[in-house]
Amino acid sequence: METFKREPLLRELKNYLIHLKDLGYTEIPCEADLFANAEIAPQQSHSSTPSNEMAKNKSLIAVQEELGDCTRCKLSKGRKNIVFGSGNPNADLVFVGEGPGADEDEQGLPFVGRAGKKLTEIIEKGMGLNREKDTYICNIVKCRPPGNRDPEPDEIAACKPFLIQQLKAIKPKVIVALGRPASSTLLGRNVPIVKERGTWHEYEGIKLMLTFHPAYLIRFPTLENRRAVHDDVKKVLKVLKESQR
Ligand code: URA
Repeated sequence: METFKREPLLRELKNYLIHLKDLGYTEIPCEADLFANAEIAPQQSHSSTPSNEMAKNKSLIAVQEELGDCTRCKLSKGRKNIVFGSGNPNADLVFVGEGPGADEDEQGLPFVGRAGKKLTEIIEKGMGLNREKDTYICNIVKCRPPGNRDPEPDEIAACKPFLIQQLKAIKPKVIVALGRPASSTLLGRNVPIVKERGTWHEYEGIKLMLTFHPAYLIRFPTLENRRAVHDDVKKVLKVLKESQR
């Protein structure tokens, strides 16, 4: 009887933990007073989980809660899932893409299709980082534009406050804008990406690097383009390393 009741509870708990993992949690923040009446005293918390880190996590979740089941723009009508973002909520490095494609819409996760594989390759092979642990990835719009067209200005305007709040919650050392729409959205002007990729900018005091979108590399896989992105991410690595000294 008891097992019968516990199983659905455990299943619920497991689903909730998977949901938290999808949101970028790598551990469960826990207030010390939860243990106030427990026989075993809580372990001293490790320095890697100070309360301000928890606050940062909470605020990223708060942003997602505020976004809710968004219907602020017309993209909500055609979407299957909102693609909020994924990765480490405390990452030093954030990649900002354009908007979900079909695979991302299906799974509710950013960059999981062909462009996602290319981005993972850039992060893991090109930079020697771990996608989930070392980065956070999101888009300028959280719902799939039909037929993978570029997001329209009203859609970007409706979604931009959430991107800004995500970046404020994460406070990364470096942001990498992937392609023209992301670069233009963050800089608030039309960015000619071929001309400006590889250059440093600033977004709200955070270093911002512009580079090609991984889908562009798939479409135009020339040595020149691949070298360009390679050079751009090496510059990012250098700044990240300097900031950790
Ligand atoms: N392209 C993007 O810009 N974002 C995604 O999440 C997937 C593909």
